[in-house]
Amino acid sequence: MSSQSESQWPSWLPLRKDLSGLKPYGAPQVAARSKLNTNENPFSISEAIQRSIEREISTELENLNRYPDREVIELRRALAIYINKVVKPVGIDITWENIWPANGSNEVLQTIMMALGSSIMGLSPSYSMHPLIAQTIGANFRAIKMPSNFEIDLDEILKEIERNKPHLFFLTTPNNPTGRSVNFLSLKKIVEKTASYGGMVVIDEAYGEFSRELSAISLLADSPSLIVVRTMSKAFAFAGARIGYAVARDETIKALQLVRLPYHLSSLTQAAGLAALKHSDDLLADIERIKVSRDLVASELISLGLEVIPSDANFILFGGFSKFAISAPVLWQDLLDQGVLIRDVGIEDYLRVTIGRESENQLFINSLREILHP
Ligand SMILES: *Cc1c(COP(=O)(O)O)cnc(C)c1O
Repeated sequence: MSSQSESQWPSWLPLRKDLSGLKPYGAPQVAARSKLNTNENPFSISEAIQRSIEREISTELENLNRYPDREVIELRRALAIYINKVVKPVGIDITWENIWPANGSNEVLQTIMMALGSSIMGLSPSYSMHPLIAQTIGANFRAIKMPSNFEIDLDEILKEIERNKPHLFFLTTPNNPTGRSVNFLSLKKIVEKTASYGGMVVIDEAYGEFSRELSAISLLADSPSLIVVRTMSKAFAFAGARIGYAVARDETIKALQLVRLPYHLSSLTQAAGLAALKHSDDLLADIERIKVSRDLVASELISLGLEVIPSDANFILFGGFSKFAISAPVLWQDLLDQGVLIRDVGIEDYLRVTIGRESENQLFINSLREILHP
């Protein structure tokens, strides 16, 4: 940590030394005509579902003087039903005791790291919050760099796990920011390797509903040594409500309760989640539409002469603009000047674009064409 980064803090502030060089998570929040930078679902939930949530929340209002259900039982039941019905894990029936919801999967991830060990490994590039949360709770995070095509190198991963024996191994599938997913058999091998010395795998399935691969939840039938983390923020079009959840063996879920804060999930959030889950089919209805748009945007990018990483999610990592003598930060700014906000994820010669509404995608492609082929 350089003394320069430490000096941004006043000397009277007793900030932990290991935090002084960090920056808070910060996707730029700027206004744009096409907002394609945080992998949200671009379609708002229907009027009918909005009213249903409103009714469910309004019944909670007279009880706001009371703390919410600390164990979040009803929402856990509803999430278990959703998993069994829609994700359809093989060989295991998920009950409420296998589920733990919190304020977004980020809180779930933090809780897992606080409860289960201080040596953590993961892959790079992947979700930036995994190493950041690890650092903020004082855990050690080590990343294995992925090959340049961003496919996992299973042999290397198994070797590195064997060598380092981390308490927790983090894997995101479909991966953010690359969009690639990991097949079920590879996940199984990684879980087996980690279980062999008493470690655990955390599989972040934030984009699971978009993926053509099987959910890792089925692995819980044979192995206790994994936690699957999912969210209602992306496919469910529910990012503003802040609900994510862990799926694991009941002993694991019980262990997470040791470090969770009391009454962590507000009664309003619980009510909103319950109402939304009653309409899960409708909420997920736009997924196919988003995937069709994604494949369309991918082929447009290719026809502009760019390189596309095949995506199994609702965003695309694309590159190849260096041959137009333009760098990622410059292209990012040029697009923003045209009203298109995408994401510079810090990988040289790559940018990430979230699939939006048709008009937003059009503006993105048209702007890109103007910049690259004036
Ligand atoms: C968006 C995202 C999350 C965070 O989701 P919340 O549930 O909104 O906190 C977690 N993991 C990955 C990989 C993500 O891309």
